[in-house]
Amino acid sequence: MAKSPFPQFRQDAIHAGEDEAERAHGLSPDIVMASSFEVAPGIGFSATEMDAETPYFYTRWANPTVRQLERKVAALDGGEDAVCFGSGMAAISHLWLSRLSAGDRLVLSNVCYAGAAELAHDTLPRFGIEVVTVDTGDAEAVASALTPNTRLVHVETPANPILRLTDIAAVATLAHAAGAELVVDSTIATPVATRPLELGADYVVHSLTKYACGHGGDALGGAVIGSTAAMQRLRQDALIHMGGTLSPFHAWLILRSLHTLDMRMFAHERTALALAKTLEGHPKVARVLYPGLASHPQHALALRQMECFSGMVSVVVRADPAALAERIYSGCSVFSYAVSLGKSKSLAVHIPTEDLLRTSFRLTGADADAYRAWAGDGVFRLSVGLEPADLVIADFVAALDDV
Ligand SMILES: *Cc1c(COP(=O)(O)O)cnc(C)c1O
Repeated sequence: MAKSPFPQFRQDAIHAGEDEAERAHGLSPDIVMASSFEVAPGIGFSATEMDAETPYFYTRWANPTVRQLERKVAALDGGEDAVCFGSGMAAISHLWLSRLSAGDRLVLSNVCYAGAAELAHDTLPRFGIEVVTVDTGDAEAVASALTPNTRLVHVETPANPILRLTDIAAVATLAHAAGAELVVDSTIATPVATRPLELGADYVVHSLTKYACGHGGDALGGAVIGSTAAMQRLRQDALIHMGGTLSPFHAWLILRSLHTLDMRMFAHERTALALAKTLEGHPKVARVLYPGLASHPQHALALRQMECFSGMVSVVVRADPAALAERIYSGCSVFSYAVSLGKSKSLAVHIPTEDLLRTSFRLTGADADAYRAWAGDGVFRLSVGLEPADLVIADFVAALDDV
C-alpha cells in the first residue's frame, strides 16, 4: 500500500487533467458542449480506426471537457487513463459487456450494488455468460469459484449495504493466477481511502454520482480507470458502440467537485465515526457496521487497506423499521429519507433484508444465513453528510428515541 497520497493528492485534485491545450486559459475548465467537431477531411468513420492521435471528432467518442475529468480521475486513482460514462451503472455494464463473451464466467461479490447484482443475474445469462456469486471477503470462496473460463472477478469494497470488505491484494493474486482480471468498484472508498490499482486490480470503477460529485448530488456520472491499452479498447469497444456517454456539463460539475474530494471525505469520516460510536451504545441499536469501528469484523483489513473509513454507516435497529423510516421522513431536519450516498446532505434509507436477498442478491441457504448473521433485519444505511457532527448525531438519536 502506498503511503498517504497527500500532498500529491491535494495537488492532483485541483490541477490534474486541467492543463489541456484546448482550454482558453480560464481558471475554470471550459464546458465544451459541442457534439461534433470540424476535422480535416480523411478521418475514418469506424471506431476500429480510432487511436490516441485521433482529434476530437464526435462527443460520444471523446470530448475536451470529459477528457479533463478522465485525466483527473486517472491521476487520483494512480491509473494510466480512464473512460467516463453517463452513470456508474453505464461504467459497469459497458466494462462487463466489453470483457465478457459467451462461455465466460463472471465471479461477483454476493453483496454489492443492487443494480450490478441484477444486471449480472438477469441480463448476462441471456448472452451465455455464467455468473457465480461468492463472499469475496472469503479468499477460499473466491479461489474455489475460479475456473479456467473465469474472465472477470468483480468486487465492491466496502460493499453496499452492509459494508463488508474484500482484501483487494489477496483477490488480485488469486484472480491473476487463474488468468482472470479484477474489477474493483471503489465508489464508497474513493481514491482518498483506497487505490485498488496499486493493490493489483486491473480496473477501478466509480459511480461519480456519489462522493466524487458530492455537493448537492446534482450530476450522474461513472468512470473506469486502468491501463492506457485497456482504456483505449474500452472506449472503442464499449463507449463508441454502446454510447453511455457522460454529458460535458456533468463532467464539468464533477471536475469542480473533485477539487475538495479529500477534504470532504475526511469530514464525512469524522462525523461518521462519531455517529457510529454514539449509536453503538444506544439501547435501540443491535449493531453498527462501520469499517472504522474496532467491532467491525474486518477492522484489521480496514486499517490495512483504507486510509479513510468514508462516510457510510449501516445500523441494525431494535425498533420497527417502518416506524423509524416514517419518523426520519417526516421528522428529521438533518437526515433526508433517500437513496444514494456521498452527498453534502445526510441521507438515511431502510434496506429490508428479505427483499434485498430475494430481489437483488438471490441469496439462499448458507449464503443468506451468513448475510443475516452479519446484518440481520432492520438495516438502515446512513450516508453521513457534511453538517455539524453534533446536529447529525442529535437528529438521528432523536428519531430512534421516538420510535
Ligand atoms: C450508486 C452506485 C453504483 C451505480 O452508480 P449510478 O451512478 O447510480 O449509476 C454502482 N456502484 C456503487 C457502489 C454505487 O454506490
